[in-house]
Amino acid sequence: MIQGSCCCGAVRFSVSTAPELVGACYCSRCRKVGATPFAMVDAESFTLERGRESIVEYTPEAGFKYVRCFCGRCGTSLGEITTSEGTFPIPVDCFDEDLGVEIGFHEHVATKPSWCTIPEGAKQFDGDPS
Ligand SMILES: [Zn+2]
Ligand SMILES: [Zn+2]
Repeated sequence: MIQGSCCCGAVRFSVSTAPELVGACYCSRCRKVGATPFAMVDAESFTLERGRESIVEYTPEAGFKYVRCFCGRCGTSLGEITTSEGTFPIPVDCFDEDLGVEIGFHEHVATKPSWCTIPEGAKQFDGDPS
């Protein structure tokens, strides 16, 4: 069991099995909302323990598809924590302990800012992973 939470603690969740896939996205939208790096969470292992009423959803304008979630009190980016998908991303920094997994892939590398250096060893994709 691994616990996770927002910065203020209003939102708390747990996963029964540790996520095994962590990715980093360099698109401007993930970077602006602090959604990266992210762990892919299996919905069956996930429990939202408290704070559903604190979660605010940003539904994007036409052309973008991902609803972004935040704590309405502290602003912590919570990925797609309210989705009904079978797997969904949660920013790794929401977890209260080290997941023990290295970043497995880097996506949207074409829009990576200059200050960010990607270490060797993981797959890189200019856009979405193929
Ligand atoms: Zn919070
Ligand atoms: Zn992105």
